[in-house]
This record gives sequence, structure tokens and C-alpha cells, in this order.
Amino acid sequence: MKLSRRAFLHSAAILPTFGIDSGATLAEAALQTPNGSSFDPWVEVRAGHLRHNVAEISRRAGGRPIIAVVKNNGYGLGVANVARALEPLEAVAGFAVVKLDEGLAIRSAGIDKPVLLMGPLDERNLGEAHRLALMPMVYTPIGAALERIAARARNPVAIHVCVDTGIGRVGVPYRDAAVLIRDLARRKSVEIRGVMMTFAEDEQFDREQLRRFEALVDDLKRDGISPGIRHAASSFALFQHRDSFLDMVRPGMAVYGIYPEPQFRRTGVMDLRPAVSLKARVAYVKQLEAGDSAGYNRAFVARRPTWIATLPVGHADGLPRVAAKGGRVRIREELYPIVASVSASHTIVEIGPERRVEIGDVATIFDWQDGSRPEDLAESCGSSVYDLTMHLNPLLPRRVIA
Ligand SMILES: *Cc1c(COP(=O)(O)O)cnc(C)c1O
Repeated sequence: MKLSRRAFLHSAAILPTFGIDSGATLAEAALQTPNGSSFDPWVEVRAGHLRHNVAEISRRAGGRPIIAVVKNNGYGLGVANVARALEPLEAVAGFAVVKLDEGLAIRSAGIDKPVLLMGPLDERNLGEAHRLALMPMVYTPIGAALERIAARARNPVAIHVCVDTGIGRVGVPYRDAAVLIRDLARRKSVEIRGVMMTFAEDEQFDREQLRRFEALVDDLKRDGISPGIRHAASSFALFQHRDSFLDMVRPGMAVYGIYPEPQFRRTGVMDLRPAVSLKARVAYVKQLEAGDSAGYNRAFVARRPTWIATLPVGHADGLPRVAAKGGRVRIREELYPIVASVSASHTIVEIGPERRVEIGDVATIFDWQDGSRPEDLAESCGSSVYDLTMHLNPLLPRRVIA
């Protein structure tokens, strides 16, 4: 499809701000990508829901500051989209990312709030991070390198120290942490702004991890070393362990309005509203006779005459293959089962004995409504809700709705 330059600019300009609701015409839908098809899947980001979730987290955390985790492209919503929506909120003290590029995306969006960089860095990357005013998470003896960077930049390097209290992933082992932190603390151009840990998310063991962390902090304080802000609580801990909130909380999934565990949904601890949807338009509708099949390997065989609809969205877009095992899609306010298999770019849903959907109808893979929440899809097909949003193809258009 050839698009004039003017039409291209118009659609590109409209992209970040306007939504298409299900009542929109196909012509309007064509604006969703600069030169794509209006049937192509898209991701909707609800800024209002992000802000609502932050208010809920803040209430739960007793007003403690929140560092919003926006790693993995903002859990699939787009790192800059999320950071822009949350930056004005007083409750949000800053952002945490894993990749240097994500920190760069936040700074390029004109956002000045503190950013914690939780990924590994060599000295060259550290220099770049410092130029962007990103605070590296440190857990190896890199004090000398930090001093060199500070000297070159002529200003001190602010860091957070990551302590491994038992998750065994990254972080200085808690038994060795005091030695590393003392070394960093004595360096004049290194500022320890915070000390952090990650829970294994095991009810009993989490308590032991917290004891190890607190013992370390007490130890440092006895030596006159200030470890700065203490933080540990991810979304799971926000629900599970009130005593883990410390000086600041560090949630990801809850910010996006998604319950990290199915059992938390019914606790009433926080009212979270999903801020992310995946949608596409029905590409094709047809009737199968009894005995007709659909999908590779004839994965679905009609037992009776039935209507099916084909959606132009598949596992390449981030819809898990397992969604064919119990997942449901909403079209015209009805839920229809995904049948056959999810292929790279196609998904088939069974409509039933009557033709109740048409080509061009909006199909909601997941959104914020009960029955269609990301948790519902993940639960119905036995996948992790973390896989659902974080695996959304980064090339799909993101449409931010106020
Ligand atoms: C991803 C991550 C978080 C946020 O976890 P959620 O379960 O999404 O709340 C917090 N801390 C660290 C170190 C992380 O890697």
C-alpha cells in the first residue's frame, strides 16, 4: 500500500494519543500504523489504569516511594509510554530498567527522574550510564572503575548495591556484602544511594532472606556506613510481606495492573486494572461442515457444522502457542474459544452454529475486562502472565489511551 507523505505524517502523529474503540470504522483503524493493514494486531496502553495502579500500590505501601520497574520494554507496553505516563506522579520516585537502551529511551523521552540500571555493565557502558544519569546496580568489586568514571566526568557516581540473600541470581552474596560495601563507601567519588535484594518468592524462605538483609544493614550502620534507601519488594512481596516494604517498593507487574499470582486476585489487597490490551480485527469468517478441519495437522476437526473466524495474530506477535489449549477471545462482547493451533501469524476461534461475527470486527485477545484479563488468558491455557505481556512483539504498534 502506497501512502502519501502527508498521510504518513498524519497517521504517525495520531498514533501516540488516539484510541480506536470497537465502534471505530475501518478507515479510522487504518490510521493505527503508518503503512500497515488496519487488520494488523495492536497493543493498547491505558495511561489512566497505570496511574490508578500506582495509587493502589502507594496506598498499600503506606505512602512509601515507588520505583516502577519498566524493564523488558516496560513489560511490553513500551518503556517510554509507561515512563511518560508515570513521571508526573509524586508517588513514583523513579524507574528501574535492565538494559542500557531502556535507560536511554527514558532520557530521550525527556524524563529526569532517577533511573536504576539493573543490568550488567563494563567500564565503557558504565561511563555511558553515568552520562545519562542512570544509577548502576553494583555487586562486584568495581570501585576503582567507578572512581575513574567519576574523575573523568568530574562528578560522583551514584549507585545501588545489590545483595544476594538467597535467590542466587545476581548480587554480592550476603556473607561477603559488608566487605564490598565498606570498600565502595570509603571511595569519595562513589555515593551509595541504596541497597537492594530480590526475594525467591517462597513464603518461608523470604522471611529468612529479609533477616539476612536486615542483619547486614545493622552491621553496616554499626560501622557508621549509611546504606541509603533499602528496597526489596516486588509485586509478589507487596501482596505477601508487609515487613518487606522497607524504605521503597519496587514493583513491576502490579504497576501494569496484573496480579502476579492468581490467588492474589481475590484478596482485595489491591484493586489492579490491566493497562495493556492486545487486539486485532477479524480477517476472515467461514463455515465448516462436519468433518472439515482447520489448522496445521488438522488440529481442529468440526463435529457439526460450525462457524470459525480467523484472526491475523499469532505467536510471532506474542500470543502463546498454548493459547489454543483453553484460551478465549472476545468479539462483540462474547467470548469464543481459540481452536486448532496458534500459528506464527494466525489464530482461529470457533464462533458456533450461527454466524455472529463479521470481517473487520475487533477481536480482543486480552484487556481489562473480567473474563478477558491477561490473568484469565494465562490461567485458561496454563501459561505465565509474565510471558504474555513481556513477549508482545516490540514492533506491534502501541496506542496510548488517556
Ligand atoms: C523484575 C524485577 C522486579 C519487579 O518484579 P514484578 O514481579 O514484576 O513486580 C523487581 N526487582 C527486580 C530486581 C526485578 O528484576
